[in-house]
Amino acid sequence: MDELFAPWRIEWVTRDDRNEDVDGCVFCTLPKESADRDNYVLARSSRSFVLMNNYPYNPGHVMVIPRAHTGEYAALDDETLLDHARLKQRTFEALDDALDVNGFNAGLNLGDAAGGSIGDHVHTHVVPRWNGDTNFMPVIGDTKVIVQAIEETYDALHDAFADFDDATIPEDGRAVEFDW
Ligand SMILES: [Zn+2]
Repeated sequence: MDELFAPWRIEWVTRDDRNEDVDGCVFCTLPKESADRDNYVLARSSRSFVLMNNYPYNPGHVMVIPRAHTGEYAALDDETLLDHARLKQRTFEALDDALDVNGFNAGLNLGDAAGGSIGDHVHTHVVPRWNGDTNFMPVIGDTKVIVQAIEETYDALHDAFADFDDATIPEDGRAVEFDW
């Protein structure tokens, strides 16, 4: 039997939604807290942050989120737009370094009809893609899936963010910080 490395087959179906306890907007609350590893906050810049998705479409599925609480993309000011774009650049590179991806899907869900679950706070989904990733599960019938904790994916991505020359890490358990 072949073994398949499948870090996304984590408890993401069964585990508790840790965000249920958060009062108000989760995208406003999480970056203000200090338990970044527990909250899956990977990186912070002055106006944005990177958060792992609780229900990943693929391993390494993250969101790059402006700190400003608004559901209107047009409401983001220039400084925030630039900061958010820079953090997206770092995110693509960190994901590639950590997970050796073949491509990305990245985008926004804006408005009630777009299918996003948190419509009142803009966030960009970044989903790593690998060649054949949408159809390879059915063709590997005799494969044992190895479950790996989402924490290990977090650590690999955290290390990749920390590798940038302009990155700083305040202390253990905290997200990587960028100051540009
Ligand atoms: Zn918010």
